Amino acid sequence: MRIGVPKETWPGELRTALVPANAKKLIRAGFEIVAESGLGQGAGFSDHDYTEAGVKLQSNHQSVVADADLVLRVRKPSASEVGWLRRGAIQVSFLDPFNERALVDALAEQGVTAISMEMIPRSTRAQKMDALSSQDNLAGYVTVIQAAYHSIKAFPMMMTPSGTIRPCRVFVIGVGVAGLQAIATAKRLGARVEAFDTRPVTAEQVRSLGAKFVEIDLGEVGQTEQGYAKALTEEQIALQKEGQKKVIAESDVVITTAKLFGRPAPRIVSRDMLEAMQPGSVVVDMAVETGGNVEGAVLDQVTEIGGVKVIGQGNLPSQVSRNASEMYSNNLVNLIEEFWDVDNKQMVLDPEDEIIRLAVITRAGEIVNETIRNLNT
Ligand code: NAD
Repeated sequence: MRIGVPKETWPGELRTALVPANAKKLIRAGFEIVAESGLGQGAGFSDHDYTEAGVKLQSNHQSVVADADLVLRVRKPSASEVGWLRRGAIQVSFLDPFNERALVDALAEQGVTAISMEMIPRSTRAQKMDALSSQDNLAGYVTVIQAAYHSIKAFPMMMTPSGTIRPCRVFVIGVGVAGLQAIATAKRLGARVEAFDTRPVTAEQVRSLGAKFVEIDLGEVGQTEQGYAKALTEEQIALQKEGQKKVIAESDVVITTAKLFGRPAPRIVSRDMLEAMQPGSVVVDMAVETGGNVEGAVLDQVTEIGGVKVIGQGNLPSQVSRNASEMYSNNLVNLIEEFWDVDNKQMVLDPEDEIIRLAVITRAGEIVNETIRNLNT
């Protein structure tokens, strides 16, 4: 089976879907790998690293895609790239299937088996393939590094002969994978950390990291079967805003990571809350790509609102492209190994398998994923 790995074409994307160590592993298992020259450039891997691993390099982007049985990439393919895919080929990447109906339709029409990495379930068995987690974990780390860079205050407490510096106060809103890593990173830097999430189960996780959970009574909230947050009602959002107002005003740094799976992110930090913060404070909106948690946050920009810097940097995992590529590539290889039939040298994607049922979006000319098929119909 031939695996094709084209260079990412998404503007500013520095990650790569396959790192040399994993290429070597797959080649040893019997795969042929053809990749585009310069594949690992953004993640610090040279062409030599790939050729040494046994990868065949080509400079023609189209043929890397068109001649492959299995295409690996980080970002969704463009419409023209879909047109190059072989009928029956498997294409694995993030796909954003909730917002990309035309792309999903095109993949189905092309007869491609498209696997969407966002749709890998959050189960124990699928953990090793969970790219949302591997990338969000690093994104959470980056939010704090960015906040620290833009902050006019140091994070740790320092007792010096010149005086005492009090620890920076950080408030993390949204305690999923990214939020937990943001808390841990801010704690490592010595900040005093508080956090809030609508899912009550997160309170204990926050405390176990040595941070304080901000209690806000929203009434009945709960979570979905997959563990995702349910959308709040208008009244609950108002209660949350009221409950977090004082903490935001007293924080030096606010990091928001609140998301709703398959839906726009909730808008939970309003302009008046920003204006109540001390000038020089920093707010990082990690949800800016899916609608934004913070009023006034602009994708890929640092805006200033009432003297507060609002950071809307997108694609945070790409800031640590080396580790993000290694983790993502591990997720892909684990996926391939899970469904690779060693004896018959083919991928076996059983529609009855839970991971396949949820992560395969199109197959043999159809949209086979029930959730995506039934969207807006
Ligand atoms: P996510 O990225 O969908 O959302 C981030 C966080 O935002 C969530 O914790 C969510 O509860 C929170 N949120 C939503 N609306 C909010 C609001 N108005 N205010 C404050 N917070 C709000 O979440 P995720 O990191 O992808 O995690 C989703 C779920 O999957 C969690 O339950 C997590 O524990 C679970 N998970 C399980 C596994 C596994 O078992 N293998 C792996 C990873 C994640």
